[in-house]
Amino acid sequence: MAIAVSPAQASIKSDLAYQKCINVDCGLTYGTDEALTSCNKCGDLLDIVYNWDRIKVPNRMSDFEQMWTRRHEPLRFSGVWRFHELLQFAPAERVITVGEGQTLLQQANSVARYVGIRQGQLYLQYEGMNPSGSFKDNGMSAAFTHANMVGAKRAACASTGNTSASLAMYCSVTQLMKAVIFIGSGKISYGKLSQALEYGALTVQISGDFDDAMARVKEVSKELGIYLVNSINPFRLEGQKSIMYRVLESLRWEVPDWIVVPGGNLGNSSSFGKAFTELKELGLIDRIPRLAVINAAGADTLDVVYNQRNLRWNRGRPRMEIACLYYDEMDKAKHKADTIASAIEINRPVNLKKCLRALDVCDGVVRKVSDQEILDAKAQVGAGGIGCEPASAASVAGAKLLRQQGVIGMDDRVVCILTGHQLKDPTATVAYHTTDQDKFNEVLGSRGVTRASYANRAIAVPNDMEAIVKAIQLYS
Ligand SMILES: *Cc1c(COP(=O)(O)O)cnc(C)c1O
Ligand SMILES: [Zn+2]
Repeated sequence: MAIAVSPAQASIKSDLAYQKCINVDCGLTYGTDEALTSCNKCGDLLDIVYNWDRIKVPNRMSDFEQMWTRRHEPLRFSGVWRFHELLQFAPAERVITVGEGQTLLQQANSVARYVGIRQGQLYLQYEGMNPSGSFKDNGMSAAFTHANMVGAKRAACASTGNTSASLAMYCSVTQLMKAVIFIGSGKISYGKLSQALEYGALTVQISGDFDDAMARVKEVSKELGIYLVNSINPFRLEGQKSIMYRVLESLRWEVPDWIVVPGGNLGNSSSFGKAFTELKELGLIDRIPRLAVINAAGADTLDVVYNQRNLRWNRGRPRMEIACLYYDEMDKAKHKADTIASAIEINRPVNLKKCLRALDVCDGVVRKVSDQEILDAKAQVGAGGIGCEPASAASVAGAKLLRQQGVIGMDDRVVCILTGHQLKDPTATVAYHTTDQDKFNEVLGSRGVTRASYANRAIAVPNDMEAIVKAIQLYS
């Protein structure tokens, strides 16, 4: 899909949208021509708010189906921008797309059996089918569009891998900006690192973990005036709303009972909540699905503050000091996030407050699952479909847990979001299926994974016709 956007000559301001501080006691607003990552006055997160009365929104969600007939237009080919009316912060001619969002929703019956849900009721939303292999492209397309609108020449992010792969890809395809990516040492999977390197991003590997890299990139971007594309960027979350639009589209506009999503920086969960809130307010859906956000047990901040310490949205006045206290405790104990699901190996989720809002409007729940549960679920996803990376499988493991607890019902219609492609982290997959006990222990043993219940092991045979024939007959 061709892209025909030139660098912006001057910062462009939309009269259909503006930025607004989410702090109910502040609520300061800013134009879309400003590049901010937090409120100048109080430091809180920003939302994108629309002047809906000035936007021509279709009367029914099914009206968006007409956009399918316009697939020759880059704007309507994109799985993000064919819903442009629902994210109108950029005029059509300024939108940057590389053809993201060509995803699919699979009815996965073998996975349904594993999770304990009636046949036909479990769906997997494959976001790994995006051009850079993760859902991040949905958001990056939007943030990149905004970056270009404000005339940015460099864009930066801290990343566990997929954000950097996505940013690097948008930079290489469009040649509009230089990507500067910050990664922690030794934490990034090879699939993701290889993308950033090949796409030509300036890759800064700092000693520390994701949370350290995140703190640093904020500082450096401010100092050098580099556009920041982490999910603290409110425009990213606008693009990610389209994941929910496509889920609804695939279900012929029927709202499912549950959306289950892995939680890292909590951008996805936040944006899903915003998407449904807006659709409900616009009268485009009649009910909101329930949301389940799944942490890895080794990076369980949301689970701790939500389930153990009762942190709630509280009508816009969450007691964020509960989270601050927990961060201090972790620092004192030198506690670092640790999970095989590297994409959610995050202890200080930047969108925590927005996620609390999403959990509130979606009557949400939070759970955590172990690396063992994640890898077993991942093996089941792969065996019954297109596959996913470890973090993505937290959604399926979480659905199974919620089903066991009776929170999700046997007949509920459940959509698990598979956030990243199977090939992103081959090390974890091969270690799970390997016959080499040392390899298994090296990669997984330290993470409390003791068995590979669904391993599909290679069989070793001598290079001998008779032995090979015998082995195939024995095992197939
Ligand atoms: C970024 C990422 C996540 C975490 O999403 P958040 O929006 O930060 O909660 C989960 N899975 C994959 C594959 C990711 O790349
Ligand atoms: Zn503010």
